[in-house]
Amino acid sequence: MKNNVTNKVRQQDAKVLAQGYTRAIRLMDIASIVTFLALEGTLVYQLWGNPHVGPWLVLSVVLLGYLMADFVSGFVHWMADTWGSANMPAIGKAFVRPFREHHVDEKAITRHDFIETNGNNCLISIPVAIMCVAMPHTSTAWVFLAGSLGSMIFWVMATNQFHKWSHLDNPPALISFFQRVHLILPPAHHQIHHTAPYNKYYCITVGWLNKPLAMIAFFPTMERIVTWATGLLPRQDDIGTEAATALLASEVGGEAPVVQAAKALLERTEEPESISSARPSA
Ligand SMILES: [Zn+2]
Ligand SMILES: [Zn+2]
Repeated sequence: MKNNVTNKVRQQDAKVLAQGYTRAIRLMDIASIVTFLALEGTLVYQLWGNPHVGPWLVLSVVLLGYLMADFVSGFVHWMADTWGSANMPAIGKAFVRPFREHHVDEKAITRHDFIETNGNNCLISIPVAIMCVAMPHTSTAWVFLAGSLGSMIFWVMATNQFHKWSHLDNPPALISFFQRVHLILPPAHHQIHHTAPYNKYYCITVGWLNKPLAMIAFFPTMERIVTWATGLLPRQDDIGTEAATALLASEVGGEAPVVQAAKALLERTEEPESISSARPSA
């Protein structure tokens, strides 16, 4: 069934997708990075010397922010991979297109410079950064909230950098070390996502949440809910209607272990009959 789906995958032209990176989008990327860094700098300045900040708070917000970023990276990546199209007004070219390009030409990201790699993630982080800066920071709870969210968006920004490094053939020694000890996204781990039909292991900051989310079937469940509510076919734009339909059918077939068990039971109860009818001739 899996091969059946893989054979049907029809993707878009890599060159056309790459040409979608226009001058306007580049300018927006630059503006997003500058704005984002200014807001994060302001937040650090505000919290520096705050009486509610201590080493334990810093350690916990850094770690919690890392986990939250891993989840957000997975969720946003899943949304962009699964729904919408590069031709959509407003978000198509700037936001959906890079995800389509990445499945067709996974090495393209290694040719993107710092601005193209990080612009998008800075842009989506700006509203959160504004919230963090605008919070009162007058109690431990406020400082913890501002710190966790500020840390989360810092790691969200780092995500596409870690992701890009996971596609390098020969990463620098230090980066390769962090990948081996799985403190940032390891290449082999990320390749699980790059296997057609591209429907698992969406988390790309570090990937720690990929296994737990797969175990609880988080994304397939979300897809069923969205399809139920909207009638949309998951990843129709990414892999083509035929493959997306075949994948959905295979998932529905494999989704209900209860139904499979019931069928197996039914077959078993039918067996004695077939055995008894087979015996005389044996
Ligand atoms: Zn993807
Ligand atoms: Zn990738």
